Amino acid sequence: MKGREDIVVSTQTTIGTDGGEPPIESIIPLYKPYLGPEVHQAASAALNDGWLAMGPWTKRFEDELATYLGLPPSRPLVATSSCTSALHLAFELIGAGPGDEVICPSFTYVAGLQAIAMTGANPVFCDIEETTLGLDPASIRRAITPRTKAIMVVHFAGIPCDIRGVYQVAQEHGLRVIEDAAHAFGTTYEGRPIGSFGDLVAFSFGPVKIITSLEGGALISPNAADREVLQQMRLLGVTSDTAARYAAGRAWDYDVVRQGFRYHLGSIPSAIGCSQLAMIDSFIENRRRYSQHYNEAFGDLPGLIIPSSDYAEVAPYIYVVRVAEPSRRKAFMDHLKQRGVITGIHFTAAHHYTRYLDSPRQPLPTTDLVASQVVSLPLHAFMDESVLDRVVEGVTSFFR
Ligand SMILES: *Cc1c(COP(=O)(O)O)cnc(C)c1O
Repeated sequence: MKGREDIVVSTQTTIGTDGGEPPIESIIPLYKPYLGPEVHQAASAALNDGWLAMGPWTKRFEDELATYLGLPPSRPLVATSSCTSALHLAFELIGAGPGDEVICPSFTYVAGLQAIAMTGANPVFCDIEETTLGLDPASIRRAITPRTKAIMVVHFAGIPCDIRGVYQVAQEHGLRVIEDAAHAFGTTYEGRPIGSFGDLVAFSFGPVKIITSLEGGALISPNAADREVLQQMRLLGVTSDTAARYAAGRAWDYDVVRQGFRYHLGSIPSAIGCSQLAMIDSFIENRRRYSQHYNEAFGDLPGLIIPSSDYAEVAPYIYVVRVAEPSRRKAFMDHLKQRGVITGIHFTAAHHYTRYLDSPRQPLPTTDLVASQVVSLPLHAFMDESVLDRVVEGVTSFFR
C-alpha cells in the first residue's frame, strides 16, 4: 500500500468544487460488482446448455457452496431466488404464523422484516450493540414474551453479531435463531464459517453482495431431513425436482404435498454464481486489505468512528464509518460527492418507516444514534491505489 507521500494530486481531487458535477468517468461508485470475462463465459456456457429454469448448474452451485462453507451432511443447503425468499422459507419452516413474534433488529435492511411478516408473524425490534452493530443479547432478553417464536440476527457489514450471546439466550428460552447472513458470506467466527454451525442461516447473492448470481440466495438448515422439505417449498410444493422428472421423460409426474413458493434459482444465475465463487478468495482478500487500509487511514481522525473489527475473520461486504456528530453527516457525504466519491447509508432505522411505526419494540437508543451516524464508503473487489487514495483524501480532508 502506498504511503501518503505517494498520493498524486490530480485534477480529479478538485473536481466539482466549481459547483459542477464530477465527470462520470471519474466517479467512484459505492459498489462495483465484478463482471469480468469469467462471468460472461459462465453465463453463455449455461445458456448453451439450454436449461433456463432450475437445472444442472443449480445443483452444482449448491454443492460448491456447501464445499466452500465446509457443511456437514447434517446441514443441507438449498439455493433460492434471493435472500429474502430464503428468509421467508426459514420462517415458514419453523412454523411462524399470525400471533407469533420474531425478535429482530431495526437497524437492518427491510427484506428480513418483510419476510417475517409474510408468515403473518410480527417483528419486535431490539437494540444493537455499539461494537458489532448486531443485536444486543440484553435487549433480546427483555423482549421475550410467551409469543416469541424466534430471533433474527444480522451480521452487519460482514461482522458477526455476538453469536455466543444470542444462542445462549435462545437456548435458555427454547427459541429458534435465523441468521440473516446476507452480509457475511465468507466470514468466519472463532475459526468456523458462518453457516457451518448454528440454526438457520440465509445468504444473499444479489447484485451488490460479496459474490453475485445477479439475483440469488441460499438457506442452510441444521436438520438433514429439511433438505427435501425446503426443495419442495422453494418450488410450489411439488415433490421432485424438474431435472429428475425431465430425465425420466415424465415432466408431469409429480405430486403437490405442501404449501410452496416460486423461489427456486435458475441454472444461468447459478452458473454465474459458480464463476464468482471460484474467485471469492481474491475478492475477500482484497476487500479485507482495503478495509484495513481505511481503518489505518481513519483511525485518528477526530469526529469519525471507524468499524470495531480488525477484519482478521471478516469478509467485508460494506465499509461503514460513523460521523460522531450526526448533524455533520450530510455535509460529509456532500464533500465526498463533490470529489466524485459516492457514499451510502446502511441503514435507516426501520422503526421510523411508516410500515413499522406501530411495531412493538424495546428502547432503541443505540439504533437511533448509530443510524443517524453511518456512512458507507466505496468498497469493491478490485480497487486501484489511486481510487483508494481519493477516498482516503476525501475523508481525511473533511475531518482534518
Ligand atoms: C441484501 C440484503 C438482504 C436481501 O437480499 P436479497 O438477496 O436481495 O433478497 C437481506 N438482508 C440484508 C441485511 C441485506 O443487506
